[in-house]
Amino acid sequence: MVEFSLTEEQRSLQDLARKFAKTEMLPVAAACDREGRFPEDVYRKAWELGLMNLNVPTEFGGSGLSVFDQCLIVEELARACGGMTTSIIANCLALEPILLGGSDEQKKRTLPAFCSSYHLASFCLTEPGGGSDAAALQTRCRRDGDAYVLDGEKCFITNGPHASLYTVFATADPALRHKAISAFFVPRDAEGITPGKDEDKMGHRASSTSTVRFERVRVPVTDRLGAEGDGFALAMQTLDHTRTPIGALATGIAQAALDYAAEYATKRRSFGKPIGEHQAIQIKLANMAQDLHAARLLTWQSAWWIDQGNRGSLESSIAKCYASDAAMRVADDAIQIFGGYGYMKDYPVEKLLRDAKLTQIYEGSNEIQRIVIARELLSRYA
Ligand SMILES: Cc1cc2nc3c(=O)[nH]c(=O)nc-3n(C[C@H](O)[C@H](O)[C@H](O)COP(=O)(O)OP(=O)(O)OC[C@H]3O[C@@H](n4cnc5c(N)ncnc54)[C@H](O)[C@@H]3O)c2cc1C
Repeated sequence: MVEFSLTEEQRSLQDLARKFAKTEMLPVAAACDREGRFPEDVYRKAWELGLMNLNVPTEFGGSGLSVFDQCLIVEELARACGGMTTSIIANCLALEPILLGGSDEQKKRTLPAFCSSYHLASFCLTEPGGGSDAAALQTRCRRDGDAYVLDGEKCFITNGPHASLYTVFATADPALRHKAISAFFVPRDAEGITPGKDEDKMGHRASSTSTVRFERVRVPVTDRLGAEGDGFALAMQTLDHTRTPIGALATGIAQAALDYAAEYATKRRSFGKPIGEHQAIQIKLANMAQDLHAARLLTWQSAWWIDQGNRGSLESSIAKCYASDAAMRVADDAIQIFGGYGYMKDYPVEKLLRDAKLTQIYEGSNEIQRIVIARELLSRYA
């Protein structure tokens, strides 16, 4: 049985996110992008409305939403601003290792704080030496009595300077690669943590991205997630769950690009008629619509598949990879339809291209997604 209609509850979630995006995010999106401003007031309001911590079960005070429902919200937010959406959903990424690998006691100790008041968390996997080859990470965890001592540096960490909790992946022995990686949660006030300055980025400029340095940070053994050596698998399982919402984020950017372009095509005139009456522009709009629909359907299918309790590596990689490539194509065509104005910062479409670009890079670059897809595929024929 395949069903594409949304329930009343899903439509009201979508409406809530759409209204919030239109009234709170869109009016400040261009200024935040221009100034590289982190609009904490917007994030607080998102938290108040329950638009953060979407994956945290209701028993801990979160929204307890399925991946599908998360995608509905993320797409609507991203229509207004990809960067703000990245910061709003960063808690879902950072808290997912706790949801997947934490004991009941650890969940009770960490999760309710994020739901009873506004706090941000960061997922710390990537390092300056490389992100794609996560098993090669160098941040060390050395056992010392009833604690581990963490040493190393993470980079490109979303919300890094603003987080009150970090989920950190570290190795007992880099030579053992994935087998020696463990995961920990570390409160910001632990001694020895230094977030770096905000990176000056091409897009997603309303989001904050920084290094986070860990110097002789003592982490109690009780704050390790899962068993020693479980960290790599936990990071991969986390990304299997969070990549699909990145597909939704890319879909939201593509939807915004198509909306702007289609409207412009009805107003802008050349050779005595609206440019939308020229077949070359119609073909572009038709291609954009096809890309957009395919991105949304792949995202929805992946979300549904994961919500059925399946692993979803293949599906989430296909959704994220296709939707992000589609967002780039659609944003590019939107600029072309706007002509010279599309290239100007006074118009909204060039930001969409800059924001779309990140979706091809983070949560695993699209080259890595294609490796995952090919591996999964080939294993079925071996
Ligand atoms: C704005 C932003 C926010 C981010 N937020 C977070 C965060 O919150 N937490 C976090 O942990 N990380 C975060 N990241 C990091 C992101 O996930 C990595 O940048 C990404 O995984 C790529 O790693 P890298 O930048 O080290 O590139 P590299 O791994 O150095 O790769 C460089 C290039 O080589 C390609 N490549 C690498 N290996 C292969 C291969 N085997 N085959 C083919 N091509 C290959 C890559 O696809 C890429 O094109 C963020 C990044 C950015 C830019």
